[in-house]
Amino acid sequence: MDWFYEQPVKIEFGVDKRKKLPEMIQREGWKKGLLVCDPFFRTNGTADEILDICGSQIGGVFSEVSPNPDVSEVDECWHALRKAEADFIVVLGGGSAMDCAKAASIVTQEAGTILKYFDGEMEIPSAHVPIIALPTTAGTGSEVTAVSVLTDRKRDRKKPLASKSFYPAYAVIDPVLTYSMPAKVTASCGVDVLCHALEGYWSKNHQPICSALSVHALSLVFRYLPIAYEQPDNACAREKMCEAAVIAGLAFGLPKTNASHGCSYPISSLYHIPHGEACGLTIDYFTRLNSKQDADGRIAELAQKLGFENGEGLADAIRKLKDRIGMRSDLKEFNLSEADVKELAVQSQHPNLKNNPVEITLEMLTEMYQSMV
Ligand code: NAD
Repeated sequence: MDWFYEQPVKIEFGVDKRKKLPEMIQREGWKKGLLVCDPFFRTNGTADEILDICGSQIGGVFSEVSPNPDVSEVDECWHALRKAEADFIVVLGGGSAMDCAKAASIVTQEAGTILKYFDGEMEIPSAHVPIIALPTTAGTGSEVTAVSVLTDRKRDRKKPLASKSFYPAYAVIDPVLTYSMPAKVTASCGVDVLCHALEGYWSKNHQPICSALSVHALSLVFRYLPIAYEQPDNACAREKMCEAAVIAGLAFGLPKTNASHGCSYPISSLYHIPHGEACGLTIDYFTRLNSKQDADGRIAELAQKLGFENGEGLADAIRKLKDRIGMRSDLKEFNLSEADVKELAVQSQHPNLKNNPVEITLEMLTEMYQSMV
């Protein structure tokens, strides 16, 4: 088996690591930064704290980012970057803020808009503004991935763009930043971690380093996600979920996600279900499907390493975990018609699905969604 591993992001992990920002900026010789942040952090004082910590190193703030960031927000962020004449970005937020900053960092004057890259009209350039990413959710792993997931709301389209230019220079993972996550966000982001680790593990492009990372991340999720959800002030559970999130980010970064993530894009854009919960909606179905055709026994082996009897047992445990943390496993509340189910199945035929170990047909997707309505 041939494989390749690389991981260019410098990772600083630990309580209060955000206070080390000035040292990192100075070490790199960067002059003036733009702080890109989720609007929540303008209201709770954390953005101000970062500005205090960095002093004159930061010359502007951009906070017009919403969940599942829209291409128009990326363009506005790019304008703010140019206005501030910034030579680096500090981004404070979940996957949405991080992906918005990552996308803005690659837009060139010639392109003038992220849409040129979103629509595949121009290649993503290698030149980009370097980023220090401070994740505030324990979820996406965007702080260590070469991906930016964007939405074009006008066209109901959500998709990932991939390029090495999207790797942040630093991931500063400070668990304190996640303490304020509401229970629903904790749950949805935690399920995203679970999906990253599983999909990275069974990806057609799986490889030993990433598989080992998946096992570690999954064991943390099963143990600590219910605690972080039920006891938001439990610092140990928060820290362990941050560890799980970044490790799972590394676990799927190279092998790439597949079935549940592919299906999540239309689920999120059509029914406005948060990203992690949308991925989780189908993850037990795909665990059962993949474990039934587990020719090399890898999924059974994973299940056993995690303490379950087999793939079915793993799928049952996932379903139980989702129920415990209030995540949906069906779409009943949306009263979908047969035509809606068909449309969802058609739109779920995302290229990601080709990276699933078992071939997924339109009939299978239709049947899966029919069982959820
Ligand atoms: P998010 O960034 O969309 O945030 C969700 C909500 O939580 C927002 O309302 C935000 O204000 C709030 N929030 C965030 N941190 C908080 C905190 N500490 N305290 C209180 N509230 C907080 O959520 P997310 O799940 O981190 O990101 C989802 C986005 O990331 C989606 O667009 C998804 O497609 C994308 N994604 C990207 C990658 C990647 O590799 N780039 C991987 C997976 C998902």
